[in-house]
Amino acid sequence: MKILAIDIGGTSIKFGMSNRSGNISCFKEFDSEAKRGGEHLIERIIQLVKMNYKDFQAIGISTAGQVNSEDGTIIYANENIPNFTGMNIKMIFEMNFNVPVVVENDVNAAALGERIFGAGKRYTDFLCLTYGTGIGGAIIYNSSIYRGFNGSAAEFGHMILYPGGRKCTCGFLGCYEAYGSTTALVEKALEVDNKYANGREIFEELNRENSKLEQILNTWIMDVAYGLVSLTHIFNPPVIILGGGIMEQDKLVSLINSKVKELIIESYSNVEIVKASLGNKAGLLGAVSLHL
Ligand SMILES: [Zn+2]
Repeated sequence: MKILAIDIGGTSIKFGMSNRSGNISCFKEFDSEAKRGGEHLIERIIQLVKMNYKDFQAIGISTAGQVNSEDGTIIYANENIPNFTGMNIKMIFEMNFNVPVVVENDVNAAALGERIFGAGKRYTDFLCLTYGTGIGGAIIYNSSIYRGFNGSAAEFGHMILYPGGRKCTCGFLGCYEAYGSTTALVEKALEVDNKYANGREIFEELNRENSKLEQILNTWIMDVAYGLVSLTHIFNPPVIILGGGIMEQDKLVSLINSKVKELIIESYSNVEIVKASLGNKAGLLGAVSLHL
């Protein structure tokens, strides 16, 4: 069976064709033009599929936003994709392409991708976190996504780490993502020098032995680790998989792993903190796994 996998994000849309073993071919990436709204975005994807892909028997979609994976609607999407909320993606694609369509939230999809094809292959239970603008989370329980009562479980980014602390995008104060996201790290670095635009630039500067920046990075690693320690105490997972561009930085995940081991109750210290292994294909491979 040939599966067309689509990964819809706020900045880019990725496409790939895959067989059941997760070998992605015909990979293509386009600007999502998300600011023009949900309707434009979906119309654009349909046109891109028609122009570039044929002879597929199923479509798997990984998308930004909260998803009702049973009926394939977007329950909620933030202002990164205006008017995306409420769209029934599954129905639209089934009508246009006449093949079965499955839709899943991008963090959940990435976790499923890691479960079937990546760093989670050997485990039936684990946690997955992605660090970027915010912190996304997924719980794999008995090889499936644990969804919670309303389908919104695993919002690890909104654990309160410091009550009364920094303001979070959710409106609360002191959330984990206000301290541990890549955005939080970049904001702190900007207080030292206003030239940093992303995590990569911060790491480049560290090679020049910038001690102020190193201090900021160490505090950030500590905060990232505190969140993981609490999650380990709650879930007792064998492994926690960390994704997001920043985790590709050399040695970062092993530094976080060491910090977690330092802070954790000893009987939990066999938890392994590892890097996601599918990189920017995690969402696509997760979308493929929805049809396995
Ligand atoms: Zn929050």
